[in-house]
Amino acid sequence: MRQLLLLSRSGWPHTRGLRLMSTQATTKLFINNEFVESQTSDWITVHNPATQEVVTQVPKSTQQELDEAAKCAHLAFKEWRRTSAVTRQRKMLDLQHAIRANADRLARSIVTEQGKVLNDALGDVQRGLQVVENMAGITDHLLGSHLEVSSDMDTYTVREPLGVVAGICPFNFPAMIPLWMFPVALATGNACVLKPSERTPTAAMVLAELSRDIFPKGLLNVVHGAHATVDFLTADPRVRAVSFVGGDRAGKHIYERATQHGKRCQANMGAKNHAIVLPDANKEHALNAIAGAAFGAAGQRCMALSVAVFVGEAGDWVEDVASRAKELRINGGFEANADLGPMISPEALKRATQLIQSAADEGATVVLDGRGVAVEKYPRGNFLGPTVIDHATTQMRCYQEEIFGPVLTCIRAETLDEALALVNANRYGNGASIFTRSGACARKFQSEVEAGQVGINVPIPVPLPMFSFTGNKGSFLGDANFYGRAGVGFYTQLKTITSLWRKQDADDQVASVHMPTIH
Ligand code: NAD
Repeated sequence: MRQLLLLSRSGWPHTRGLRLMSTQATTKLFINNEFVESQTSDWITVHNPATQEVVTQVPKSTQQELDEAAKCAHLAFKEWRRTSAVTRQRKMLDLQHAIRANADRLARSIVTEQGKVLNDALGDVQRGLQVVENMAGITDHLLGSHLEVSSDMDTYTVREPLGVVAGICPFNFPAMIPLWMFPVALATGNACVLKPSERTPTAAMVLAELSRDIFPKGLLNVVHGAHATVDFLTADPRVRAVSFVGGDRAGKHIYERATQHGKRCQANMGAKNHAIVLPDANKEHALNAIAGAAFGAAGQRCMALSVAVFVGEAGDWVEDVASRAKELRINGGFEANADLGPMISPEALKRATQLIQSAADEGATVVLDGRGVAVEKYPRGNFLGPTVIDHATTQMRCYQEEIFGPVLTCIRAETLDEALALVNANRYGNGASIFTRSGACARKFQSEVEAGQVGINVPIPVPLPMFSFTGNKGSFLGDANFYGRAGVGFYTQLKTITSLWRKQDADDQVASVHMPTIH
């Protein structure tokens, strides 16, 4: 690393509250446990989405820097792979302690760069922390199987790490998604090169700083950039597996490129999550749940409920959803009364507003229109108020495309069968929920719906890490899901050993009672 400038431990920008960042603040690379100033001439500016203030400049890593990160990870892996699962378990306990102690700091960086409200940002950290806690049980996860297959002959399995693995992250969960990746990779004995979103890099840098005091150098490296960085990580021969979370375009490209280069790849992608509302549902519960899941985090969750299918008389409740949505408070994420903050960028806001307009143009009714919402204290923020579109059809753009904003598209259906057919015809399969008091309807829904994560009277059924994140259809490419048992499987390869230790070789031995001497 001689050619790279090494920096002190505070090599990432501080983002306390809404304090203005210097436009000169840069986000560092984290290579071989050092914060390093990139030598690139190509930088991406990160803005606070509530204020447009510049938070930091993110480098597009040079090829030399990327090569250095892969080299350091590869070297670190050679030692780390020899550590015991018990050693790695202790490291996970240290990591969970460090993250817990720094949860507020992490959450504040998320509010500043991503825009979500502070409590939700704490939830972002908490859901990632749970993966680390689960990895503290790595000793159990790695238990193998054993059978005496013949007389004196045993076959047993061991799970071995792959080597260097790469993680490529989206903007919307700046702590949780890096924590879906590198703790599982390290606990299973791998080294990791992580690329956070170029729009929300700071939480990953805080996690790197916390990891620096826990893990040997080179085990976790953080690089930045966009397409060129991704293209390096998906082709470099030292990288054995790629984990991706983000949109469809990048996901397909990354999956194809990584697998063409002989790597394992797991790619979580876009979504259109439906809720079916039956007329026998607990109305209060269903409407509150739908409003929270559609508009919370400004709809920028991959498990946000973006479509509600009202069956029969439940169609009369659309106005009630709109009234609840109207009560939600839109504000900067640090404001105590905020329910939802801004969208990530002016471009994302523009796209969402165009999709709302397309719905009106194509004949839907915009029951609640959040366009042009005024937020007094943050006049420059990328705010879109909760928006409810009614009488949409599956042909409309607002249904066909992932809006990724606080917009709920409502559709009417006559029967549960019709609603189920509609959900199943959608190309995505991330999540789907039903609201009903009928066990029979819930059971039918659960067994027939083609979505990977199913909620029954639960709006955002993201499983805790003793399970795995199980999106399917167009929301996922790959075989092994993120975290939990599937995540451990993704980052490890099985080895089977068959050994023969003949009993008679032991029978010949006579115990000696003499003091051993050297001849
Ligand atoms: P994105 O696809 O724009 O970016 C994700 C990552 O891919 C970033 O690190 C980015 O640098 C890189 N990237 C972007 N375009 C690329 C390209 N053409 N070639 C190579 N790399 C590229 O996604 P985003 O806007 O940051 O995140 C929002 C999307 O992520 C939504 O579609 C959302 O549904 C999805 N998401 C899915 C899940 C899930 O678990 N299914 C979770 C969170 C977010």
